Amino acid sequence: MPLTNGDWLLPLEPGQAVSVGWGSPTLPLGITWHWSATRDLLTLSRVLGGKNPVRKGQASAHFGVGRSTQEGVNQYVALENRSWHAGINQLFRWDGQALASPNDKASRTTVGVETVSIGFARAGVSAEADWIDVDTPDGLTHLQVQPWTDEEVGMMIEVGRTIVTQFPQIRPVHHHGHSDLCPTYKQDVLGFPFAKVLRGIYQDDTLPDVWTPFREVLDRQRALQTLGYDLGPSGADGDWGRHSRDALIKFHADNELPASPYWTTFTCRKVYQRLHQQ
Ligand SMILES: [Zn+2]
Repeated sequence: MPLTNGDWLLPLEPGQAVSVGWGSPTLPLGITWHWSATRDLLTLSRVLGGKNPVRKGQASAHFGVGRSTQEGVNQYVALENRSWHAGINQLFRWDGQALASPNDKASRTTVGVETVSIGFARAGVSAEADWIDVDTPDGLTHLQVQPWTDEEVGMMIEVGRTIVTQFPQIRPVHHHGHSDLCPTYKQDVLGFPFAKVLRGIYQDDTLPDVWTPFREVLDRQRALQTLGYDLGPSGADGDWGRHSRDALIKFHADNELPASPYWTTFTCRKVYQRLHQQ
């Protein structure tokens, strides 16, 4: 386990963005993956860990995973306690259902893991040739995302194994990104290598990659069309318009998910399942 030290652990004291224990013995119910939007682990750790983090009283996470084994992994909050890693503008809970109560918020129900990635290309951040093309959950914005390094993925797997060893109730379907819970508010972790990470954590190479095939709107449209949804006169054209949006809402309603217009990891799983039933 590449855990470097406990120096970054937030002490439990009033005003820290961390609270004692979990609400019930059956918690936590999932892992929420994040990207740090920083270039390195040290910057992330100053923001989220130690005695006086930059975001003291506002935000935290259980772990921060660096881009290289040399950077390693820092732990900010003990797994016995909750960290305040997600909850603002949250629409969906760990199982993809609508958030029904403040007690469903991710900060109260899931373990939060930050991974060092600068995120998507934008002013001041240029994409490189190997960056990942992905569309946002609303299908309206195309992003290019910095890929995670092999060493980082290896450490993410180790961190994941540590968490699910302590909380075996967390199964592969209980992993998601911040943006899957808060699709109108967050972009992390679009493009995340879920298949590689989950296959590593659960040591099961048969886990299907339900994410990569649906990163871009044209692929989402083709999948909906194959499943019999009407995309209007222009069909699957790579442009996410009103008909695509309505088709997605109907797909969700037909498949026991909240009737929302956002393509999330929960959508990926259901679409994949339906496509492979045929
Ligand atoms: Zn996040």
